[in-house]
Amino acid sequence: MRVPFALSVAISVSLAALSPSQAQQNAQATPAPQASVGGPAKPAAACANPNALGIARTVEIDTTGGPGFGFEHFKQHDFLRRNEVVLTFDDGPWPGTTPAVLKALDNHCVKATFFPIGKHATWYPEILKQVAEGGHTIGNHTWSHKSLVTKKFDEAKMEIEKGASAVAMSAGVPVAPFFRAPVLKHPPEIVTYLGERNMGIFSTDLDAFDFTARSKDRVIENVQKRLARHGKGIILMHDFQKHTAEALPELLDWLKANGYKVVHMKPKESLKTIAEYDEMVRKESKLPTLSGRPTSSVVRTVE
Ligand SMILES: [Zn+2]
Repeated sequence: MRVPFALSVAISVSLAALSPSQAQQNAQATPAPQASVGGPAKPAAACANPNALGIARTVEIDTTGGPGFGFEHFKQHDFLRRNEVVLTFDDGPWPGTTPAVLKALDNHCVKATFFPIGKHATWYPEILKQVAEGGHTIGNHTWSHKSLVTKKFDEAKMEIEKGASAVAMSAGVPVAPFFRAPVLKHPPEIVTYLGERNMGIFSTDLDAFDFTARSKDRVIENVQKRLARHGKGIILMHDFQKHTAEALPELLDWLKANGYKVVHMKPKESLKTIAEYDEMVRKESKLPTLSGRPTSSVVRTVE
């Protein structure tokens, strides 16, 4: 699909390609790199794993005008070098699988980009907060994961905006204006709208097809085959999927052993939600507007 507007995008590299050990030294010399969008500023901890992938580069993405990424649909911005990959995870946050994905990423001292579903974010805000605390980038993936192709424009807009509000409110920290459409379907009027909203659109270069994979080995093979063909790319996976969570430790080991490098994407500016949709989400979800005090402190036997 051709993007119906021509825009320039500024991708600046904030950490030149360093080996993991160099990156580690750099991190040690700089206690708090910057307040990251999608995660609170945290002192950079030394990477405990000597065989970690680490982050080779961090790129900052200016989402003004809604640039599109991922060669399956958008071919304007080819920012990855050979052997570079971006790790992305959709459809979370989810108990069990998302924490397992976070653990595997942490073990390799790498950062990924997550595209959570709004409803899931309101069901499991504490898991989304763990994603933010890990310093990962958090985008959004609509409110309820319905295909935008079958929706009237106003409904599609509501799906996008409620999803964005739900993720931002549940994360509790600034998140990225990065959007991924359910099943990667982008009707032209939605591409135009996302441009007006200054949300970057992320398709994929390389689909792991973990949704249909019946084992962790299959997930690993799918990525290996496609990387052999393309040599680099934005990899689409799902932190919602059990086999992906199981595959990730081995997949990251394989990426390291085969010379692949991880690039971390960060937004230049954080997502600005729309108050009207924040309010809708607040009303419909169980986000904590009520007191979270335990029953024992609320109800007391007095007689
Ligand atoms: Zn999805």
